Amino acid sequence: MSEAIPPVATPGWQLAMPDEAAVARLAAAFARHAAPPAVVWLRGDLGAGKTTFARAWIHALGFAGYVKSPSYGLLETYPFGDRTVLHLDLYRIEDPEELEYLAIRDLFGPETLLLVEWPDRGRNHLPQADLVLEFGEENGARWIRCRPISAGGAALANKVLQDFC
Ligand code: ADP
Ligand code: MG
Repeated sequence: MSEAIPPVATPGWQLAMPDEAAVARLAAAFARHAAPPAVVWLRGDLGAGKTTFARAWIHALGFAGYVKSPSYGLLETYPFGDRTVLHLDLYRIEDPEELEYLAIRDLFGPETLLLVEWPDRGRNHLPQADLVLEFGEENGARWIRCRPISAGGAALANKVLQDFC
């Protein structure tokens, strides 16, 4: 008799992000603990803070230049010694098939951290998320919510939470 594999038990978390310094601190914790390969979806309305978070993560890994929003070029690539960050923004994508031309699946390898803004616009053409970060705001108070998908994503979510708090 085979037993169903239980879903990942980690419920995730939500943290207040009162200012960009908090975002930078959280992104630095992700930079410290996220081992490639990892796929993180960044969801939220325009202006919710997705690019700010990705930028802070890339800076925390040691990139000193300007991290531009990939909303026009779709993809920006940041090679580090032991890993490559792919920062994808699908806001302007017209057809998810465009992702096949970008060959994301080929670019995504064992040393890749893939950060995706507007992932829902490319849904079936992206590698499966390890965790989903949602960016939101209520009565002027910004927050980031973390929902792990894979076991690796759950482990990462826990480490980041312990580091941040
Ligand atoms: P998105 O990529 O989701 O469209 P951005 O990251 O470009 O949004 O952020 C939009 C604006 O919000 C930027 O001016 C950024 O500086 C600001 N911002 C982002 N996160 C925070 C925060 N937690 N507190 C205050 N301002 C923030
Ligand atoms: Mg953005």
